[in-house]
Amino acid sequence: MVRPYPYFVSLEEAIDLCQKTSIDAGSEIISISQSINRIVSSDIKAKVNDPGFDNSAMDGFAVIHSDTTSPPTKLSIVGSSMAGSIERHTLSSGQAIRIMTGAPIPQGADSIIPIEDCTVEGDKVTLNKPSKPHFIRKLGENFAKNQTIFSIGETMSPEKIALCAAAGISKIPVFKKFKIAIISTGDELKSLDDILEHGQIYESNSYGLAALVTIYGHEATRFPSVIDDLDTLRDTLNKASKNHDCIITSGGVSMGDKDFVRILMEQEGEIKFWRVKMRPGSPPIFGLWNGKPIFGLPGNPVSSHVAFRAIVGKWLTSLTNSKDVNNKFVYAILDEDIKTQAGFTTFRRVQLSVEGDTIFAQLKGHQGSGNIAGIAMSDGLTVIEPNEMGKKGDVCKVILL
Ligand code: AMP
Ligand code: MG
Repeated sequence: MVRPYPYFVSLEEAIDLCQKTSIDAGSEIISISQSINRIVSSDIKAKVNDPGFDNSAMDGFAVIHSDTTSPPTKLSIVGSSMAGSIERHTLSSGQAIRIMTGAPIPQGADSIIPIEDCTVEGDKVTLNKPSKPHFIRKLGENFAKNQTIFSIGETMSPEKIALCAAAGISKIPVFKKFKIAIISTGDELKSLDDILEHGQIYESNSYGLAALVTIYGHEATRFPSVIDDLDTLRDTLNKASKNHDCIITSGGVSMGDKDFVRILMEQEGEIKFWRVKMRPGSPPIFGLWNGKPIFGLPGNPVSSHVAFRAIVGKWLTSLTNSKDVNNKFVYAILDEDIKTQAGFTTFRRVQLSVEGDTIFAQLKGHQGSGNIAGIAMSDGLTVIEPNEMGKKGDVCKVILL
């Protein structure tokens, strides 16, 4: 059968095809306190130097190094510099100033001796070792005023939020969150409030997919799951497309008679590709519904999760010039042969262990694409490329979960 769209494409082709479709939500300025996982939309420059003044890295005494090179050295204590003190101290040869971590270095001092290396008697201190110049944290050594500390596309992490605050920045320019509708399909799906009858299951994919959307920095709306019915599905997609930037469905994209997402897209949507050479997760369909991008992900729980990370996440990060921070990876040695298929990218659930300086990957749990427990308990997903065999002893990229 000749199809009017690319069919059963490689994962690389699927990612490329998605990138031809773009959406833009614009940007906004938000408070630093609200910025976790948000994506910076323009470069940000530091408002201050860090440190803003030379200061001590230790509790001890500020001294002149040349006074201290032949210990023991007895010096006169002529003052105290505390963290937060705005008083400006000065010292000269033969003198020491008591100093706390973070306190400004007195003028004239060029080194610090930690309190542990001193004996204090009244207003005299005996230095039992030479002092250390490197215990001084120098003005601007971490970053300088006006230095670019963030570039467009960076995702705010706890560490970056703290850096922003240190740089005096309280408002952050970020890309607006894409509004993403999550719609599960299937007659068997019941909500968590329901009591299950024989043949029914809890609808679980939408929760995992919504959480993925959140960690990618966007906003998910979970719709109640939709029964396997063409008209109900059409109505729900129409509704979702009105006030969302993008739609993600799960289920109903395979070859079955009741796979209505695929059937509806074939009849009334615009398909950009259907099916991808990946294991698990080969059924995805991508296209437009009412002009809005729509990802039809598979219903099998592991497949939908993997397809999001492998395809949707890559697309979302490309739209905001970002690094795929949610797909951090390591290279590991395979501890056993992994079942692969020529031409397919293989994502198996593995446990990682470290021996010496080597990381090993071992299959974790039953690898069925319906087994959400298997992926939830794994450390990572193998990324075995289409030309790789996945043999014991091979080096393999593993995405950390
Ligand atoms: P489908 O892709 O619709 O053929 O569904 C494949 C498998 O995934 C079936 O066993 C479904 O019951 C299951 N499934 C589909 N959607 C969900 C969902 N939202 N949550 C949990 N399991 C699902
Ligand atoms: Mg189904």
